[in-house]
Amino acid sequence: MTEELELFRANVGRFVAEEVLPNYPQWEKDEIFPRSLWNKLGEQGLLAVDIPEEYGGCGSDFLFSMTIQEVFARANCGSVGGPMAVHSDIVAHYLLNHGTEAQKQAYLPGMVSGDCVGAVAMTEPGAGSDLQGVRTAARRDGSDYLINGSKTFITNGQHCDMVIVVARTNPDVSGAKGTSLFMVDSDLPGFQRGRNLEKIGLHASDTSELFFQDVRVPATAILGKLDQGFAVLMSELQRERLVLAIGAVAAAEGMLEDTVAYVKERKAFGAPISSLQNTRFKLAEVATDIRVHRSFVEECKALLKRGELDVATASMAKVSCTEMQGRVADVCLQLFGGYGYMREYGISRAFVDARVQRIYGGTSEIMKELISRSVLA
Ligand SMILES: Cc1cc2nc3c(=O)[nH]c(=O)nc-3n(C[C@H](O)[C@H](O)[C@H](O)COP(=O)(O)OP(=O)(O)OC[C@H]3O[C@@H](n4cnc5c(N)ncnc54)[C@H](O)[C@@H]3O)c2cc1C
Repeated sequence: MTEELELFRANVGRFVAEEVLPNYPQWEKDEIFPRSLWNKLGEQGLLAVDIPEEYGGCGSDFLFSMTIQEVFARANCGSVGGPMAVHSDIVAHYLLNHGTEAQKQAYLPGMVSGDCVGAVAMTEPGAGSDLQGVRTAARRDGSDYLINGSKTFITNGQHCDMVIVVARTNPDVSGAKGTSLFMVDSDLPGFQRGRNLEKIGLHASDTSELFFQDVRVPATAILGKLDQGFAVLMSELQRERLVLAIGAVAAAEGMLEDTVAYVKERKAFGAPISSLQNTRFKLAEVATDIRVHRSFVEECKALLKRGELDVATASMAKVSCTEMQGRVADVCLQLFGGYGYMREYGISRAFVDARVQRIYGGTSEIMKELISRSVLA
C-alpha cells in the first residue's frame, strides 16, 4: 500500500499545485472559495475517499483520507483542507457509522461527488466547550420535528447543502441526555444562513451563523437514536482529533521547508542568515519538535486503524501537535523578519491559520481536562 499511497500523494499534490494554489490569493480576498471547487474535488476523487463503493466512495483505507489532509496542510491550504475534513472525515463518517441505510443512500453519493456539501452545527453563541448548554430545540409535532434556534462558527456554513444539527429533544432531562442529531437540508423553509463571519485567518473558508425557525423535518432525519446525540458525537471524536493533529504536523513540516529555503537565500551582515548560530539552533529545535510529533501521529494512525485510539491519546495528539504548530509558526515567522509579516509571504498565512487549531475541535484546555481524567483515574 505504501507505493499506492505515495502515488496518490503525488496526484493530490498535482491537483493542489494546478487547481488550488494559483487561485488561493483571490479566494482569500473573496473570503470564500467558489462552490464549484467542491465538484472539482469530487471529480478528482478527493472527497470522502474512505466511504465504501456501495455509497459511491472508493472504499479506500483511511490513510488515503489522511494523506489528502497532509498534502493540503503542507501546501499551506488550510482554508480548503479544513472544510474538506469537516465534510469527508466528520460528516460523512457520522453518516456511515450511525446513519440508516436510507440516510446513507440519500446523502453519501452526493457527498462523494461534491453535489452535497456537509456541515456539522454544534456550537451556539452560548454553548461552545460546554455543549450541555445547547439551546436549539427540536419539538415533536405529529410525526415530524420542528427545529428552532441558532448556531455559530459553522464551517461550510455558506456552502453546505446538508447540516447535522445538535438539538435538544428532551427538555426534562439535564445535560447531555436529551440531545439528538438531525440531518437538515439547507433548502428547507425556515433555514437561514447568517453572514460569512470575518476571521483573522483561514480567509478562504466560509464560517457562518445558521438560523432555524420552525424548520420541519421528519423523524427519519434523526441521525442515530433519539436523545442519544452525544453518544454519536463522542464516538467520532477520536478520529476528528487525529485529523487535526495530522494537519498540524504537516503544516509545521511545510513551514520548516519554506523557512529553510528562505534563510539560505536571505543575507545579513554579508552572509546568509542560515549561517547565524541563532538561526541554526532555532531550526534544529523546530525540526526536532516536528519529528517527535510526526512519530506520535504515526503511532496514533496505527492505533486508530486497529480501533484502539482512546480518548486520552487522541486528546494528547490534538493538544500537543496543534501547540507545536503554533510554536513552529512563531519561530519560522521570526526568521523571515519583516517579510514574515507581509501577506505576500506564505509564512504569514501559516501563522494566522495555525492559531485556530488550538481552539476548534475542542480547545487545548478541554483536551487537558480529558487527559487529566485518564491520568488521575
Ligand atoms: C474557524 C472556526 C471554525 C469552527 N467550525 C465549527 C463547526 O464547523 N461546527 C461547530 O459546531 N463549531 C465550530 N467551531 C466552534 C469551536 O468548536 C468552538 O469555538 C470551540 O469549541 C470553543 O468554544 P467557544 O468558542 O464557545 O469558547 P468557550 O467554550 O467559551 O471557551 C472560552 C475559553 O474558556 C476555556 N474553557 C472553557 N471551558 C473550560 C474548562 N472546563 N476548563 C478550562 N478552560 C475552559 C476555553 O478553553 C477557552 O479558552 C469553529 C470555530 C472556529 C473559530
